[in-house]
Amino acid sequence: MKQMMLSGTAMLALAGCATSQSYGGVEAGPATVAEAPASQPAPAAIPVPNNPLLADWTGPYGGVPAWDQYKPSQFGEAFTFAIDEQRREIAAIVDNPEAPTFDNTIVALEKSGQRLGNVQIIYGVYQNNMLTPEFRPVQEEWDPKLSAASDEITLNPKLFQRIKAVYDSRDQAGLNAQQKRLAERYYINFVNNGANLGDAEKQQLATINQKLASDFGSFTDKVNSDEAKFTLATEAQMKGVPADVKSAAANAAKSKGVPAGQYAILNTRSAVDPVLTFASNRSLREKVWKEFVNRGDNGGANDTNALIADIVKLRADRARLLGFPTHAHWRMENTMAKDPAKAMDLMMKVWPAAVARVHEEVRDMQPIARKDGVTRIEPWDYRYYQEKVRKARYDLSQEELKPYFKLDNMVHAMFWSAGQLYGYDFKEVTGTVPVFNPDVRTFSVTNRKDGSQVGLWYFDTYARPGKRSGAWHQAYRVRTRLLGDEIVLNSNNNNFAKPGPGEPVLISLDDARTLFHEFGHALHYLTIDVNYPTFGGSQRDFVEYPSQVNENWLMTPQVLNKFARHYQTDQPIPQALVDKVAKAKTFNQGFATVEYLSSALVDMKLHLKPDGIVDPDAFERQTLAELGMPREMVMRHRLPQFLHLFQSDSYSAGYYSYLWSEVMDADTWAAFEESGDVFNPTLATRFKEDILKTGNETDRAEAYRQFRGRDPDVNALLRRRGFPVNGASSTGGERGQ
Ligand SMILES: [Zn+2]
Repeated sequence: MKQMMLSGTAMLALAGCATSQSYGGVEAGPATVAEAPASQPAPAAIPVPNNPLLADWTGPYGGVPAWDQYKPSQFGEAFTFAIDEQRREIAAIVDNPEAPTFDNTIVALEKSGQRLGNVQIIYGVYQNNMLTPEFRPVQEEWDPKLSAASDEITLNPKLFQRIKAVYDSRDQAGLNAQQKRLAERYYINFVNNGANLGDAEKQQLATINQKLASDFGSFTDKVNSDEAKFTLATEAQMKGVPADVKSAAANAAKSKGVPAGQYAILNTRSAVDPVLTFASNRSLREKVWKEFVNRGDNGGANDTNALIADIVKLRADRARLLGFPTHAHWRMENTMAKDPAKAMDLMMKVWPAAVARVHEEVRDMQPIARKDGVTRIEPWDYRYYQEKVRKARYDLSQEELKPYFKLDNMVHAMFWSAGQLYGYDFKEVTGTVPVFNPDVRTFSVTNRKDGSQVGLWYFDTYARPGKRSGAWHQAYRVRTRLLGDEIVLNSNNNNFAKPGPGEPVLISLDDARTLFHEFGHALHYLTIDVNYPTFGGSQRDFVEYPSQVNENWLMTPQVLNKFARHYQTDQPIPQALVDKVAKAKTFNQGFATVEYLSSALVDMKLHLKPDGIVDPDAFERQTLAELGMPREMVMRHRLPQFLHLFQSDSYSAGYYSYLWSEVMDADTWAAFEESGDVFNPTLATRFKEDILKTGNETDRAEAYRQFRGRDPDVNALLRRRGFPVNGASSTGGERGQ
């Protein structure tokens, strides 16, 4: 049964780690329609309405979504029917006169709700890739209703009694390890979502969940409205800003109806950061910075503070109702870290070194700033002077690299690297299957050794109105043997500026990392091979691990020599430039780490408040003061705009996950480096078999130990970030994760 697992898919979670924007938050596999399970009584045959969203996926690759036939107006009928159908499937399980068994209860649940799951997959794509004015009211109506439909199952007492019976007899029923794990997962999920509550409390819980679902939608709308604002700048004020950034701002001005000769700097990270990095006009930087960091915090219609207070209180109430001390404890039950204290412990191991490094970075900037008459580095100065230090110290400018990072070449680079490591081949098949936008490209993925079909990968490359910012991965279908699903369908979604006809797209090194990162999610999901749909996903603090690992192969000599070639001359990137990048590797890690960690720490502390009563502004201020946040910088996501936390539950008390995953990533990369061959075939095969392929079938800490022979070592991460490593080897992944 996917519905309760699916929260991560439809809800999305943007923009992630310190190095890249990412989304991998699919908690469990989507599914296709399969025949009714033989082990349960067939539901009464009720004709399926003639609605494309309800039709089985047909055509090549095991069936694909009919993107050319969907419309927002179809969701109402589709959800109504699919929820009812699932209701009938659940009723058939509950009303089965036979005693509860693993097969007639757990397996039957795993097979239920498949049509609804498919509709939700399409719904998720509309939310992320096609959020049109036409779709918005659909979302407003159906987010709370979907939450209610999910609660109806979790809070069904007869269903829970059957699950409990299977769970209680799991040791005597001759189940294998996977089946036992699945029975346990079902039982715990149901209990943690209210199955053991009395009727009045169940009602209370359902009310809270629906109120939250609607608050999440309002929060997103308000932040989006503030992001639609822009700052005007004149030619003179844009001094120092690179030509491609200026040209994007000129285009934005045109689309906003601003008179010619002026620039519009959109209030989004990708538009704001380059201005903060390159504009020599200090007052422009200040203005742009203030507009950006105050999203959702300006009083008036778009202010999110009251909503945050409401959400945090509702979450605390829900946790108490469910028998957990705090929302963080509730939310982290199904994670590797499990206990908030372990996540805090890891973060606090890294925090002091990161803060100390920021103070050094500020000291390095001061002499350069003083020459401009700047006596105190303010937050809107940080990126600007940091870029000056980079140039002075490493003779390296971000702009110098761009000509060598042509998007098409980088796409081939990641295909090549996946071929070397995992034996996959990629072939473009754009035009042969339906897509939801003409710019979406499709690629057939096959196994090199026997040509067998692995999957179909969709690539939605460019920014456009109605597509959310950032970059993310979405799975449409995961390989789950129980459902007969063998061919994976998944997508990467980026926001590169669309070029004019015939123009090349040149991307920054950061963007190239993001590309590899998201492709890491794609490779993970292309590789997952599990029996039960519930195990076709990842725990929150594990999901960024395969994606972060994949970033490492970008800067290898093999990839750079082959694919980082000048877009005009086709000359490979000069070794001197590669050396400079390598030398500058740990540059600015103080800023990047503190920016991320301060957000993660505030998230965790906020959700560790048992009563959930907060004044968000005051809470943020006090918490940062207690932590010793350097005054020269600000959190990557301040609370009033922290979409990870307030757009859905998915990354709440979970923003630490990127660091948790990175401990495993750094330690894994160390294994490849220590082997003397970063494409070491033996290691790559073990990584594929032990880590990627297994989904969530086994305990992830065990899987890691199987791959690495021990728990992950946090020192690998400290070393990578250029922080001092103290002798005692500490682990971020001890027993009990
Ligand atoms: Zn990611």
